[in-house]
Amino acid sequence: MEHIVIIGNGISGVTTARHIRKLSEKQITIVSAETDYFFSRTALMYVYMGHMKFEHTQPYENWFWEKNRINLKKGYVKNIETKSKTLHFAEGDTLKYDKLIIATGSKPNKFGWPGQDLEGVMGMYHKQDLENLEKYAPNNKVCKRAVIVGGGLIGIELAEMLHSRHIPVTFLVRESSFWNGVLPEGESAMINREILNHGIDLRLGANLKEIKADANGKVKSIVIQETGEEIECNVVGLTAGVSPNIDFIKDSEIEIGRGVKVNRFLETNIPDVYAIGDCAEQHEGIDQRRPIEAVWYTGRMMGETLAQTICGNRIQYKPGHWFNSAKFMDIEYQTYGWVFSKPRENETHFHWKHDDDTKCITVCYNTTSNEFLGINTFGIRMRHEIFDRWLTEKRDIDYVMTHLIEANFDPEFFKHFEKDILKAYNNKLQLA
Ligand SMILES: Cc1cc2nc3c(=O)[nH]c(=O)nc-3n(C[C@H](O)[C@H](O)[C@H](O)COP(=O)(O)OP(=O)(O)OC[C@H]3O[C@@H](n4cnc5c(N)ncnc54)[C@H](O)[C@@H]3O)c2cc1C
Repeated sequence: MEHIVIIGNGISGVTTARHIRKLSEKQITIVSAETDYFFSRTALMYVYMGHMKFEHTQPYENWFWEKNRINLKKGYVKNIETKSKTLHFAEGDTLKYDKLIIATGSKPNKFGWPGQDLEGVMGMYHKQDLENLEKYAPNNKVCKRAVIVGGGLIGIELAEMLHSRHIPVTFLVRESSFWNGVLPEGESAMINREILNHGIDLRLGANLKEIKADANGKVKSIVIQETGEEIECNVVGLTAGVSPNIDFIKDSEIEIGRGVKVNRFLETNIPDVYAIGDCAEQHEGIDQRRPIEAVWYTGRMMGETLAQTICGNRIQYKPGHWFNSAKFMDIEYQTYGWVFSKPRENETHFHWKHDDDTKCITVCYNTTSNEFLGINTFGIRMRHEIFDRWLTEKRDIDYVMTHLIEANFDPEFFKHFEKDILKAYNNKLQLA
């Protein structure tokens, strides 16, 4: 029987395994060095914040795997020999495959900062990072201050986590405003204020120069590049982005760039070897997507797609309209379609912000045709399926603005803002 081996028990690997099992009787083995069982990485923050136990982040009961004849192997793959179709483990053993799926996810970026490997310095990606955080930042007596380096989605989550345990946080953000490479100016500025309102010491335009150690090799302080200021701290969180976790593949014949290079069928340059999820890199981005998509739902979609191919129905990965969601402290964020930080050529942004400074939207449309291209919403929850439909139907901006209420999750609640948003939109049209 054909043996399918999947390296990585995250959302991508596990989705592939589940769907292969639905479609076939193939032998399936999932390998992971991190944990025995699949867990939801996106829920890690809630474990530290005390909203759930780690066991609750596991979507399947432990018996699920045996019942579905999915073998689980704990071990770190240190080398892939594609000619003999063999995996070599750091633990010394080997495993043969007929088809191999690389789903090894990401790792936190480290840019060679002095002191980046000291005790008390950690990323916020793996379960081991959570364990380190519990060890070095259990409360504000053990950890008098934490410094977070890197202002993206994971950085702000870590800030919220530490804040929930009343640990003072200094947040170093390289950019002049939070996540302004992605968010339009008004939104980014609102999130700066949200961070500051939570008592977090936000430092914009600040890079890390070095991390200093005490006599025991533990973090003592950090130094800011631009000002030379030294800030005492017990924990440093490195959240300056992630990159594909593929170092162990470098010596193999599998083509890599930043990630494992794949075509639209998620196939690598080597027959019977595939890559999916955070670690896969398209030769060219699909639509306006980036070649590497490090988000949960795309990992799941790639897994579903690849299971079809593995089971004889070779299909392309077609992710559809872009969407994403996150939370910035207390403000929920959703994005549908494309709203870039600055309007691209022949694009216009319409921005509306509520006076309470916790809700805003930015709508992007084509300046000539008026076609609706995308929306960012903050503090107002909108319906994915409606925007997905409007994008497919290529609705114009007037239609979207006058039907916004249909997209709202809570139309009653939205009634309070709708008039205001429409008034602002109509004013803008008159001024234009
Ligand atoms: C704190 C946090 C919050 C997030 N929040 C969101 C969110 O709100 N929305 C969203 O869309 N995305 C979010 N993400 C991103 C999302 O979690 C990832 O995109 C997703 O988990 C990637 O899944 P994956 O299956 O590709 O890889 P992973 O989940 O990284 O799984 C890969 C597994 O492979 C293992 N592995 C790697 N190399 C080897 C090896 N050589 N041998 C054996 N095992 C190996 C790893 O240890 C890991 O267990 C968040 C990520 C983090 C860290």
